Formats: sequence, C-alpha cells, structure tokens
Amino acid sequence: MKFKLLAGLVVAALLSACGEKEASSASGAAAPAEVKTFNWKLVTSWPKNFPGLGTGPEKFATLVDEMSNGRLKIKVYGAGQLVPALEVFDAVSRGTAQMGHSGAYYWKGKSPAAQFFTSVPFGLNAQEMHGWIHYGGGMELWQELYAPFNLIPLAGGNTGVQMGGWFNKEINSLDDLKGLKMRMPGLGGEVLERAGGTPVTLPGAELFTALQTGAIDATEWVGPYNDLAFGLYKAAKYYYYPGWHEPGSMLEFTVNKPAFDTLPKDLQAIVRTASRAVNQDMLDEYTARNNYALKELVGKHKVQLRPYPKDVLLKLRDLSDEVLLEVSQKDEMTKKVYESFIKYRDNVMEYHTLTEQAFLNARSQ
Ligand code: CA
Repeated sequence: MKFKLLAGLVVAALLSACGEKEASSASGAAAPAEVKTFNWKLVTSWPKNFPGLGTGPEKFATLVDEMSNGRLKIKVYGAGQLVPALEVFDAVSRGTAQMGHSGAYYWKGKSPAAQFFTSVPFGLNAQEMHGWIHYGGGMELWQELYAPFNLIPLAGGNTGVQMGGWFNKEINSLDDLKGLKMRMPGLGGEVLERAGGTPVTLPGAELFTALQTGAIDATEWVGPYNDLAFGLYKAAKYYYYPGWHEPGSMLEFTVNKPAFDTLPKDLQAIVRTASRAVNQDMLDEYTARNNYALKELVGKHKVQLRPYPKDVLLKLRDLSDEVLLEVSQKDEMTKKVYESFIKYRDNVMEYHTLTEQAFLNARSQ
C-alpha cells in the first residue's frame, strides 16, 4: 500500500515536471522536440587522410558534426575503401554514398563541361576561380550540369597554382613533350596531347609506382606539400614550374540530391556553409605549407627545380586556346560554360593586371 502511494507520488511529480517543460517551451525556451539524426557516408578519390586533399573532407565532417550538435554524422572513406577513386561521381549519383569529394575534371566522360569546374589551362587562379563559382555565374551552371545525375555540387577546396610536373629529362622545347606518356587529367591533358604527348589519367595513389616502373614517363600531381607526401622525388629528377595546366584547381563536394532533400533546412545550410569554410581552409593550408615542402625537396632530396622555358609556355598557351574553343563546340552545355568562363576570365584579368599582378611585380622587382 505504502509502495503504491509512493509510486503514485513519483508519477505525479513526473507529470508535473513535464507540464513545466511544456510551459517553458511555449514561452520561447528551447523545445525538447524529438531529435532526428542522420548518418551519411562520404567517399573520396584520395588516400584516407592524405594531406590537404584527404584531410579537407575529414575537417568538413568534423565541422558538420559540431555545427549540427551531432545531428548529421558523416563517415569519410578513402579511395578504394568503399568505391574506387574514379567512381566517386557514380557512387554518389546512385546513392551508394550520400556525399563525395573529388575533382570535377575526372568526369569529363559525362560531359566535357565538367573539366571547367576544376581548372582550365591558363585559366583562373584560386582567388579568381572562387569568384567565378560564387559570384560570376559558375555555380548555377555547375548545378545545371550535375542536376541530371541527381547531384548537387559544392566547392571543396583549392590547391592554388600547382607545379608543372615530374620528369626524368629536361624540357627545353615543345619537341621534348612529343611521345611523352604523362599523367595529366582534364583539359591540361588535352593540351599535352595537342603538343604530341600521351596524357594518362591515374588516381594519385598509383602515380609513384607508375612512374618508377616506367609505365608513364612523367607525371604531375599537385604541389610540393602533396608531391613530397607521395615520394615522387624518388622516381623523377626534374621538377618543373609553373603548373600552367592547373592554375587554381578547385576540388568538389558532391551531394546526392534525394538525400540532401531529406535534411531539414538548418542542416542543409550547415552542409553548404561547411563546404565554403573547407574550400578556403584548404587553400590556406597549401599556401602556408608548400614552400617548406619545396625547400625539403630541393635541399634534402636534391630535386632539380626547373622553369618551363618561356617559348614552351607561349606555345602551350596558344594550344590551350585552340583546345578550349574546340571542346566548347562538343555540346550546348559545354559551350555555355566555356562562354561564361572566358567572359569572366577576360574581365577579371583586366582588373588583376592592375592590382594582383602589378603588386606582385612591384614586390619582387
Ligand atoms: Ca594536378
């Protein structure tokens, strides 16, 4: 009897507490609503935790977890853990994973236009690329391009101007590129082909072995910070600059659209905001670390640093103009993207000649 009475009092106390809670939420305090959590997979084209490229999506997942107070958990997979490096686009498109992190130029088989959303030979540097994507019409075109694949694209990091690549012979004239089998994806690869070389697209993790065994004669990858991490200096002697083929490569996040549509508005905003943060963060990291890595390559590993000769660069630039124009004729969408890109580039170049370029010239004279 006594126990029953006590139990009854406890129940009454609990009911009363609930009543208080409801009253406080009605007065504007945080509502104790049911918390729905989401568990997503994010597949990437990079080795797990690879500096910059691989740590970018890890930072993204951590940031989303913190910003959402644990309501959106994202597990990041390295290349090959869930899907191979170059199948990220298809995996996210069909919903095997809700998100991907990669480079749009790997998907040129879907449309040549995709390549413009990573980097264009003699195109835009990182700062200019971000301007085109977010304020110059680039993002709208990118969304239009990916919509038929059920994908939403987001900026996913930028490497800044890359290095020109690793060679086992000097490049003194355009003829030295003839017959050269070189790893170079995207539009840069098409320019290399026009110069008489044979471009190959390989995921990063395969570069060292391919170069060391002679399966390829030369390769580009990213810049000193990443190239040092792959040990490419052990397989090639000459390191050329600048990366005319990738002057500001932007990585991408892709989101499966049906999955994105299931998120409440605040989580959608968190995904968008975290991608913008990581996009800039990656560039900051490369900017701070590349030259230390370069000093190690040259000082410790005795890498021979070489500039591309001026006339070689001039010829490559002319070939790039030809290739871009030809590629733009392949379909309506590519033409639209090309026209937007070139119009933006001409405009931003005009201003940057007077500002960024004039300043860099003034500083180094
Ligand atoms: Ca590259």
